[in-house]
Amino acid sequence: LLGEGCRTVPLAGHVGFDSLPDQLVNKSVSQGFCFNILCVGETGLGKSTLMDTLFNTKFEGEPATHTQPGVQLQSNTYDLQESNVGLKLTIVSTVGFGDQINKEDSYKPIVEFIDAQFEAYLQEELKIRRVLHTYHDSRIHACLYFIAPTGHSLKSLDLVTMKKLDSKVNIIPIIAKSDAISKSELTKFKIKITSELVSNGVQIYQFPTDDESVAEINGTMNAHLPFAVIGSTEELKIGNKMMKARQYPWGTVQVENEAHCDFVKLREMLIRVNMEDLREQTHTRHYELYRRCKLEEMGFKDTDPDSKPFSLQETYEAKRNEFLGELQKKEEEMRQMFVQRVKEKEAELKEAEKELHEKFDRLKKLHQDEKKKLEDKKKSLDDEVNAFKQRKTAAELLQSQGSQAGGSQTLKRDKEKKK
Ligand code: GDP
Repeated sequence: LLGEGCRTVPLAGHVGFDSLPDQLVNKSVSQGFCFNILCVGETGLGKSTLMDTLFNTKFEGEPATHTQPGVQLQSNTYDLQESNVGLKLTIVSTVGFGDQINKEDSYKPIVEFIDAQFEAYLQEELKIRRVLHTYHDSRIHACLYFIAPTGHSLKSLDLVTMKKLDSKVNIIPIIAKSDAISKSELTKFKIKITSELVSNGVQIYQFPTDDESVAEINGTMNAHLPFAVIGSTEELKIGNKMMKARQYPWGTVQVENEAHCDFVKLREMLIRVNMEDLREQTHTRHYELYRRCKLEEMGFKDTDPDSKPFSLQETYEAKRNEFLGELQKKEEEMRQMFVQRVKEKEAELKEAEKELHEKFDRLKKLHQDEKKKLEDKKKSLDDEVNAFKQRKTAAELLQSQGSQAGGSQTLKRDKEKKK
């Protein structure tokens, strides 16, 4: 660290560390660069045409229909080469934006997409074995917000969407298809848009003015926002030069003519002057904010409640202890609950057993009573049978005596007759 106690000493000869900037440039060039643009705007506002015009090529892709059920983000990555510099360019476009009757949730897929790219980067950063130098960084560096050339004011969909995005991405608002609006209307429209953005607290990207070499041009350009652009890949012969233009029955508009539109300004600012600042802002401002919120959400802090520094290790240990404590508490609760349950079940079973015993006793008694009753009945029946038998023998005896007496009388009568 350069402290106050540092002394400046002269060098007696050439040492060579003045080549450090060249070393950096060489290294960066050999690694190549990456730049990711998000185009937000209604279908048919000229997003794909403008991208083709900006990069002087024809990117693939079919025109979107207006019948999408919701907003989708379509991402395409291309490898571009200009002299010895390689650029991995990703263009993300909102498909179906503004095409639904209910546009309330149109911003959500865009926010989710931007967050997902931050999350992927964060996950890579948090890995034990991270390979950030070969990692394909998909975080959005610039969001071109296409405003319809109505000449009136911003649509509420635009204001809501920009407000939701402004803390996550560098927003560069542009007036699309600006050949559809007259010069005087355009001036008024720009003022109106700017004032609406300010009154709704929407933060748009400002070209940086802290670097002396670009402060002047960036300052001037900030005053021209939002840029009014025209897109066309059609080349027309104007004078004796081929130029990108759009031809109408009454004349032509030249895309790269600053008197006709701000296309050149946009290209200058986006690609030629501030590409590195856009990349840097994405990392140091927007990603940093996402990372901070995410880590805080996970319970990490830089300071303890007494604002003393609190390391990651300490947070981890505190969290771990908290977790283990909770686990123990849960375990104890479960154990108690188990014991309680067993007790309850035991009591229930005892009660059932008692009931069964009672029932058994009752039945036994009933059975005994019944048995006794039957025995009594049997006894009385036996008695009856015995009495009957006695009477029967008596009756038989009587009968036999009776017949004997009758027989001797007949004999007597027979004897008398013979005489
Ligand atoms: P996207 O759906 O937003 O990608 O829009 P496209 O790029 O497919 O453009 C839709 C239509 O608008 C095409 O017919 C383009 O030729 C036309 N277009 C694109 N840019 C401009 C422009 O700056 N001015 C005018 N008048 N038409 C344009």
